[in-house]
Order: sequence, then C-alpha cells, then structure tokens
Amino acid sequence: MSALSRVGDIGVGVCVCHDHPKHMIGLIATGVTSVSTCYSMQSAIGDIVLGACGHPGIIVSCLTNSSVEGRGMAHIGSVFVGCFNGIVTTGCGSTSGGR
Ligand SMILES: [Zn+2]
Repeated sequence: MSALSRVGDIGVGVCVCHDHPKHMIGLIATGVTSVSTCYSMQSAIGDIVLGACGHPGIIVSCLTNSSVEGRGMAHIGSVFVGCFNGIVTTGCGSTSGGR
C-alpha cells in the first residue's frame, strides 16, 4: 500500500532545465480542491510538483484503483516529469482517504 500524496508533500528528483542537471527536492504545488486527504488537498495526475529552483514537473503516474474527479490519485512513488523529473516521496500515512 502507498500513502496518498497531497499539496505540500515532497518529491525528489533532478531538474534538467539547467546547463547541468541539478538534484533537488520539490513540493507538490497543486491538488484537487474538492478532496482533502489528511488536511491537505489530494493531488492527482496532471498536478504540478515545483522544484526548489522553481521549475515544474507534472505528475504522470498514480494508483490504478483510485481516482478523484476522473484523475488518478498521487501517492508515494508517483512519477513526475517535465523540467523537474523525479518521484514523490512523502504522503499521508493512511490510505483510507477522507479527512
Ligand atoms: Zn530547474
């Protein structure tokens, strides 16, 4: 089981939009306004992870068996791509969702 990831959770990866790729951490910046998981907005495919440098990545992988508003829910291990490429590494400890 993977904990669900929300706005403010952390992603670790590499930003390639520099002369030399930079390793860094970033924060999930967007989520689904109608769904909160552990007091923060649940994030889903298409949401943005902002690297420490300010470059974004887009969440592209999710739990296959759960979705919000038609988009798969982000979780620990979700992949994001773009300038900032990496994996979400934090989430809420409970997979039951809700509040
Ligand atoms: Zn960057």
